[in-house]
Amino acid sequence: MFISNERLKKILIDAKMIDEATWKNVVENASRLSCPVEDILKERDIIGGHLFYELVEKGIGIPYVNLKKIDIAKEVLDRFSPELVSAYKAIPFEYDARKKKLKVAFQDPADTRAIGALEKKCGCKIDAHFTGKESYRFASRHYHKSISERIRKIIQTAAKRAPKKTSDTLGCKIFGHIIEYIYYSQPSDVHIEHLRDSGIIKLRIDGYLRDEIAVPSEIATSIVDLIKKESSLTTDARHQTADGRFAWNVLGELLAFRVSILPTYYGEKACLRVLDESRQKASLRELGFRDTDISLIQKEIKKPYGLVLVAGPTGSGKTSTLYALLKLLNVEGVSIATIEDPVEYSIRHINQTQVDAENGFTFARGLREILRQDPNVIMVGEIRDNETAGIVIQSALTGHIVISTLHSNTAVESITRLRNMDIRPYLLSPTVNLVVSQRLVKRICPYCRVSYALDKAFLDSIDKDTGIRRSLDKLKKLGLLSFTTYDEVRFYRGQGCGKCNGTGMSGRIGIFEIFVVDEEIRKMILEDAPALEIQKRGEEKGLLTLFEDGLTKVIEGETSIGEIMRTLS
Ligand SMILES: [Zn+2]
Repeated sequence: MFISNERLKKILIDAKMIDEATWKNVVENASRLSCPVEDILKERDIIGGHLFYELVEKGIGIPYVNLKKIDIAKEVLDRFSPELVSAYKAIPFEYDARKKKLKVAFQDPADTRAIGALEKKCGCKIDAHFTGKESYRFASRHYHKSISERIRKIIQTAAKRAPKKTSDTLGCKIFGHIIEYIYYSQPSDVHIEHLRDSGIIKLRIDGYLRDEIAVPSEIATSIVDLIKKESSLTTDARHQTADGRFAWNVLGELLAFRVSILPTYYGEKACLRVLDESRQKASLRELGFRDTDISLIQKEIKKPYGLVLVAGPTGSGKTSTLYALLKLLNVEGVSIATIEDPVEYSIRHINQTQVDAENGFTFARGLREILRQDPNVIMVGEIRDNETAGIVIQSALTGHIVISTLHSNTAVESITRLRNMDIRPYLLSPTVNLVVSQRLVKRICPYCRVSYALDKAFLDSIDKDTGIRRSLDKLKKLGLLSFTTYDEVRFYRGQGCGKCNGTGMSGRIGIFEIFVVDEEIRKMILEDAPALEIQKRGEEKGLLTLFEDGLTKVIEGETSIGEIMRTLS
């Protein structure tokens, strides 16, 4: 943040958003974790994103702008060249032709030298605003679109200027550009492939795999070699598969990748999964948890012992939730140890270890070792087998908080799953405190979102499968929604625009089921009650199912009803 902690403290205390004790605690944690105070406020959901910025705006008298929320005209963006944007970390977003004034978002609006220099360069007055790091990164995408063109130029220039320069040096340079592009365009996966006569780099963005960058074959080979070197894999063996991981520093942030290498007919193919640190860094609120859920979760994870489970299929965002929970628990006086497969994101002061199945270091064995290290909190990446399940339950019973994930569809199904892993009801009943079940759904693109009412015929047809009317009634009763007739309820969808490549969707958000095990439910587990009955009792006590939580996000315009149905079918 560009203002001092003292000033920030005054702003937050004056706004009554924080008290002295909490502030002291936040500052201590920020220094312990070597991160800005702003990050702790955000991670622990003390003051979320925009509210925080709005308070700072009032406090310092410089206006705040969230670039994610506005549609910036291309001709305004084009007033700055990509070079100018990277040099000054500034993005123009509005131009007042009458006053000849350009509104510009800065990460540091207190940098008057930058403002002066930019005024000179573009010959108009600059009205400085400030913006957050994420918002800046989002809007910077515009300046990084012409990547394939840029790389073509680099290759051409290199061929002219230094034809003898090795393809390794050139490959390294090009890879640096590609990583920077990855940072802005935020793909989930990157493929580096060999065709018969050239190489191609493909990026999967919002689920869609695009051919982005064509390179000569030898460059593709040197990029794959570079990736293998970075992942500590041998570059000699070209005829075998390999897995690894590496991290690359881009603009002061670490981007981490999980790597898979496969020999193909024309050369080795590298597939990189981008381990999205910004997602792993997200707080519960940013992941999509509602405030009432957050307070429930905070209460449950701070109990002296017990098991907290996150359930869902592969790719449902369980790891991000685990990391958000760990960060809430990461304070002085609490010893935290993890066993993960793999470590996707490193957190200061947490002892993270990684499964190494080849050498017999499994979840079960890692967990046994961890228990000798005097931890208070243990995170086990996944409960996959009976042996791990057994040790997890024992640890939870003997004074540890254990956080883990399970591959199961609903929260209550996790209890059945543990029963099937030979965990007896009398051991299960006192240990499980909380089960979160979750899925990831696509978010509607904010630029082309439109609202509509569901027509009766469609409502009838989906009511059969989903019981949507009953769910709407339930949300109304819980005060999450108000309407008199069903046709008053507004739903949303994306029409498709340039910003979302015509898909109508952009980014993802979680939907959750938060199952708190209270005394009554404990008794039911002890008596080995059928899962359906436990589920029914939970719902009577106000549990929102995945569909119902999804519905609240549909009504808030975050996602579409079709997306919820597709994900849950
Ligand atoms: Zn759109």
